Amino acid sequence: MSLDPYGENTQPEYKRSTRVKVRCGNCGRLLAERVTAPWTIKCSRCKCVNESAPLIPAPQELSEKAALKVATARNEQTSGS
Ligand SMILES: [Zn+2]
Repeated sequence: MSLDPYGENTQPEYKRSTRVKVRCGNCGRLLAERVTAPWTIKCSRCKCVNESAPLIPAPQELSEKAALKVATARNEQTSGS
């Protein structure tokens, strides 16, 4: 089990608490070589604040649906204003 401490071979990257080569979601600038959640990194180029996804102790299917709901709600908020 200690051969894969970050889940690099067992979990998709977006589900890991540790991520490698994190890039800015806005401009794509490389922010960090390796970070472990929870993390917040402000991009030095575009000032966009990048954050780790909140860890929700829920069944996988449920949390993905909830995440989609949140993303949809955010999109509606930003497009409405
Ligand atoms: Zn950026």
